[in-house]
Amino acid sequence: MINKLVIPKRIVTADSQDKVLKNQAVEIINGKIAAFIPFEKIQRERYQEVYDVINLTLIPGFIQTHIHLSQTLFRGLAEDLPLLDWLRLKIFPFENAHNENSLKTTAKLSINELLMGGTTTFLDMGTLRYGNVVLEEMISSGIRGFSGKCLIDINDLYSDFKSTAKKEISDIINLAKTFHNSADGRIKYSFSPRFVLSCSENLLKETKEIMKDYPGSMYHTHSSESVDEINEVRKRFNKENIEYFNSIEVLDDHTVLAHCVHTSENERKMLKDKKTRIAHCPSANLKLGSGVAPIPQYLKDGISVTLGADGAPCNNNLSIFNEMRLASLIQKPILGAEVLDAKTTFRMATIEGAKALHLQDEVGSIEVGKKADLVLIDLDSYSNSYSDSDESVYSDIVFSSTTENVKSVMVDGKWLVKNRESLIYDQQELIANGKEHLKKLLKRI
Ligand SMILES: [Zn+2]
Repeated sequence: MINKLVIPKRIVTADSQDKVLKNQAVEIINGKIAAFIPFEKIQRERYQEVYDVINLTLIPGFIQTHIHLSQTLFRGLAEDLPLLDWLRLKIFPFENAHNENSLKTTAKLSINELLMGGTTTFLDMGTLRYGNVVLEEMISSGIRGFSGKCLIDINDLYSDFKSTAKKEISDIINLAKTFHNSADGRIKYSFSPRFVLSCSENLLKETKEIMKDYPGSMYHTHSSESVDEINEVRKRFNKENIEYFNSIEVLDDHTVLAHCVHTSENERKMLKDKKTRIAHCPSANLKLGSGVAPIPQYLKDGISVTLGADGAPCNNNLSIFNEMRLASLIQKPILGAEVLDAKTTFRMATIEGAKALHLQDEVGSIEVGKKADLVLIDLDSYSNSYSDSDESVYSDIVFSSTTENVKSVMVDGKWLVKNRESLIYDQQELIANGKEHLKKLLKRI
């Protein structure tokens, strides 16, 4: 790997002391952060690439812990519906109509959008079929993340979109064997039961057992998103959603539950005791009218909370900046302006995301020895803060910035976006392919 030196205006490390470094360059060797070099000690001739970006701020790559690559093609086609109708009328029929080509196209569109917006690691929910397609695209793109096939063996909402527990189990064993820890560990497998209402107890439990053969993999599902959903869960199991998960022993520190908007005190205690991770998706919770998750309460309880954009059709963006901004703002009218400050929110999108996925020794902060998953962001635009103080940098990122502020993005020491140009995709071609494959897909419904 080529040795690189990046010379930024400042470095927001997201380390345990939230250090913001100035007059320091970052040396990258073999894809890792090798050293911080004070400006006066820089020896330019030592490096194959010296990147002078003295007007830009270096931050860790963002981490999104709940995303649906398969749905990006459906952006704008599932508007103004509550969760269960959104799934029944739109999303399940759409996902059911995917073929390998349309899935590959949506995976490329998603990865492009995530990288252009500074997200370098994600946890994807997958879709029912062709799980290999998304994982293969993740490998070739250079991004970091988890994906796996989405598991459905019961579907009262759209009966064509399901498989059998037996087939699901054999599929995930094959996929996990092939893809877990592939691309030098950059790609990991996630076991993804869709949600309680679409999985038999046997499938949920057996998946958890299989997962134990793949250390470092994750168990990724949805929980307690809408009132209609939890009412249905209560009717079926005579339990709350998280109580049910707990009763079948699928909650632990390798389980990520997306949403957790509606939870009882007893469920919060279970989440805390089992060290279960919550992926908070504020845009989706607002757009589907699901509610406002009690995030400050979870944080007070010591529960891991991280962020994700969920799917493009319930957002309608994959921008971490939208999620950070909303995560903080939606709590303030309820609990007061003091809650969820910008620094806490920024950490949820970086180092806390890494911890939730057990990647904290590799990514999530800018520290010597970690992998060089880095983002250069312009915080000197006309719509950013005019202060250069270390404290204002967090509100400048969380409240004033958008994906447009992201200039360059590196994963594993390799530039994937530079000066707002994707180095891996032709974006005009991606958009044209998206339009073509969507048209064909809609004819298959
Ligand atoms: Zn989701």
